[in-house]
Amino acid sequence: MRSLNKFIRPNVIISKCLCGARCRWDRDRLDYPFVRTLRKYARIIPVCPEIEIGLGVPRDRIILVQRDNSIALYQSTTRRHLAQKMNRFSCQYLSDHTDVDGFILKHKSPSCGVRGVKLYESITLDARFTRTGTGLFAATVLERCSHLAITDEDQLERNRTREHWLTQLFTLATFRSVRKSHSFKRLRAFHTQHRLLLQTYHKRLTKDLDQALTQSDADTDNACAVIEQYECMLNRILATSPRRTSVIKPFESALEYYAQYLSTQDIKRFEHQLDSYRACELPLSELRKTVQIWAVRYDKRFTRQDAVFRPYPGPLASA
Ligand code: SF4
Repeated sequence: MRSLNKFIRPNVIISKCLCGARCRWDRDRLDYPFVRTLRKYARIIPVCPEIEIGLGVPRDRIILVQRDNSIALYQSTTRRHLAQKMNRFSCQYLSDHTDVDGFILKHKSPSCGVRGVKLYESITLDARFTRTGTGLFAATVLERCSHLAITDEDQLERNRTREHWLTQLFTLATFRSVRKSHSFKRLRAFHTQHRLLLQTYHKRLTKDLDQALTQSDADTDNACAVIEQYECMLNRILATSPRRTSVIKPFESALEYYAQYLSTQDIKRFEHQLDSYRACELPLSELRKTVQIWAVRYDKRFTRQDAVFRPYPGPLASA
């Protein structure tokens, strides 16, 4: 199991244009610094679904069109219908990449967009868009990999969604190594390390995990089945971002614990940080930085091996 300073490298599929490649329809190059920093901590797997289905660069615009019961992917200048090709590619690609922990997909793209993609009412050149939807590659990702960490570059701009995505990504990557080990001992170590963190997400389900592990104690031969059951519950727990009121609890406990070492001024300063976090004026990473300083300076026992105080590499919080 990882120490506080070592993380398992997650595998992340990323829209190739967000990685700096000139694969966009107009050959434009995007600069996205977060991906540059992420490269240091994760294995990046770039993909451009439109190039993969044979569209060149530069290329004419393609659009999503709402049909009776389906969505078409259409290039009006060539009159080509591309949905079938795209769906076939997406299914094959995801079948070939099973060791993945998360995705960053390009916002609003008719292929990669997980949301906010314009859906047109017809294939005519003057067609208007009536509502927004999901790009075709992204739709397959959401359908087949909904338990993984999926986001777009727009959502990552917000502290709260970035926090959730990074936590989910690194927790799933660590769990992937537990699954591969088939080891009940590793599962228990994972649970000890992540218990507080999971509680901030879902208290009752975390209790269920406690129980599942206690009941399985006597029967460690059955490790694979227990790990499988644990994974299902873990995915449910990590599916939605936690509430601020839950997230803050371990930090309130940290203050209680470290108060014995702190000056009144330090205590007041941290209480102010807690208030600022509650009021959405301070990212969680700032609270973590303070607790990590206390751990190094005074006493590591409280934070040792506890993922809630370091669920992912710190530099990613503000990259
Ligand atoms: S959004 Fe997706 S399909 Fe479009 S250029 Fe980027 S990677 Fe390629």
